[in-house]
Amino acid sequence: MIGRQNLIGGRWTAGAPAPNINPSDTNDIIGEYDQASPEQAAMAVAAAREAFRAWSRGSVQARADLLQTIGAEIMARQDELADLLSREEGKTRREALGEVTRAAQIFGFFAGEAVRLNGEAGPSVRPGVDVQIDREAVGVVAVVTPWNFPIAIPAWKIAPALAFGNTVIWKPAELTPASAWALADIIQRAGAPPGVFNLLMGSGAILGDALTGAGVDAVSFTGSTGVGLGILSRAAARGMKVQLEMGGKNALVILDDADLDVAVQTALDGAFFATGQRCTASSRLIVQEGIHDRFVSVLRAAMRAQIVGDARASATTIGPVVDSRQLRRDEDYIGVGADEGGKLIEGGARLRGATDGFYLSPALITETTSRMRINQEEVFGPLASVIRVHDYEEAVAVTNDVPFGLCAGICTTALKYARAFRRDADVGMVMVNLPTAGVDYHVPFGGRKASSYGPREQGSYAREFYTAVKTTYTQAG
Ligand code: NAP
Ligand code: MG
Repeated sequence: MIGRQNLIGGRWTAGAPAPNINPSDTNDIIGEYDQASPEQAAMAVAAAREAFRAWSRGSVQARADLLQTIGAEIMARQDELADLLSREEGKTRREALGEVTRAAQIFGFFAGEAVRLNGEAGPSVRPGVDVQIDREAVGVVAVVTPWNFPIAIPAWKIAPALAFGNTVIWKPAELTPASAWALADIIQRAGAPPGVFNLLMGSGAILGDALTGAGVDAVSFTGSTGVGLGILSRAAARGMKVQLEMGGKNALVILDDADLDVAVQTALDGAFFATGQRCTASSRLIVQEGIHDRFVSVLRAAMRAQIVGDARASATTIGPVVDSRQLRRDEDYIGVGADEGGKLIEGGARLRGATDGFYLSPALITETTSRMRINQEEVFGPLASVIRVHDYEEAVAVTNDVPFGLCAGICTTALKYARAFRRDADVGMVMVNLPTAGVDYHVPFGGRKASSYGPREQGSYAREFYTAVKTTYTQAG
């Protein structure tokens, strides 16, 4: 049995071992991963603080080289890393490979950004004076990440943090320490100086205070809205810089004029792939009455054709739910949908596989209305509800009738509706004839309302959070 430790100040450091279980086969223990203590978290903060000055003042080429090396190793080991990710998190091999490749691309992108951190210069309103605007590193950044994208989300936080000269303490989700350890090992062996990058595996409840405590300058979090807002209140009390990416209840609108095949494929992918465990999942299908029955019947057939099973089996199209807690939550919400008057017309059943895993068939609940809990609360599983609407205006009103605002999609062949929706949807990301889940790495990612807080992530917009602005006035002495 492999045992993996935490990385603190450049040294692998033992903690309390905890097993990492394969959700496709609960008899398969991937390894023992050490949980860090709050004292070790404080040591990591101190190490990151000590390393900050040299790292932030060092050469941008050294930072670019480090990120380039990390990206290249992730790419070279993509099959092995994808297999590990699939085994511990339960997304299919194909999905895991996509995620690993994305992580490599992100490190490559931010290697370039490291040397592109240009400031601005201009005239002063006072004669003989020059004004310069620089961007500098923020300091020690705590990175807190969820289990559903265990390597790509960490990559899009860690890469810009390091690129712009910050030092990092990373607390990955307890459920996915294997991908986290593998990435930390790659970063360490790529030559990150001691303390520049630290890994703290373990429970958020136990390590949380240290991550927003003394010595930490900024925290970037992705996860649930409840945990995110808790971090925000602790961080705000200390005046820290905070960035939160949280829950979603994303709508996919299907208008009467949509191409039916495009609409069904878009809904199937957005709602059920990655087992519906994506913050950008299309959990609400808002369907105009003229296409409603045809859409539902073709989508049902497409759902039945899915193969739910072991994430690493080549035929599998939908892997298991991540753990028993999430499985119970999914089943509870299917019950809630039915109690509120929705009709479970497809899936939602526990499946027995060849191995003992958390298998649930993708579920579709029709005849729901916007104010039902099933359409207001994030579930985070392979389940979608259908809301029938009369026209475009009602579709928009329903789209925006939730506390969340991450992304929204529309399937239509009418340019006028595509164009109007881009304006009307109260979200951070809009998809036209494309699944709500599926984004590029070189452009901003994020939402509105209860889905996000603080500056955008990814692309050149990432510098807003990971740098601080300084204005300098100079006069020849
Ligand atoms: P979570 O329970 O909120 O956990 C996220 C991270 O926060 C984990 O590392 C967790 O550690 C840690 N944490 C828990 N309590 C903490 C505390 N008191 N202080 C500091 N950290 C703490 O979310 P999850 O279940 O891992 O992921 C699913 C959620 O993430 C969904 O709501 C989904 O929508 C959201 N998500 C959002 C985006 C986005 O970009 N908007 C992307 C992906 C996922 P433990 O693992 O030990 O609990
Ligand atoms: Mg959790």
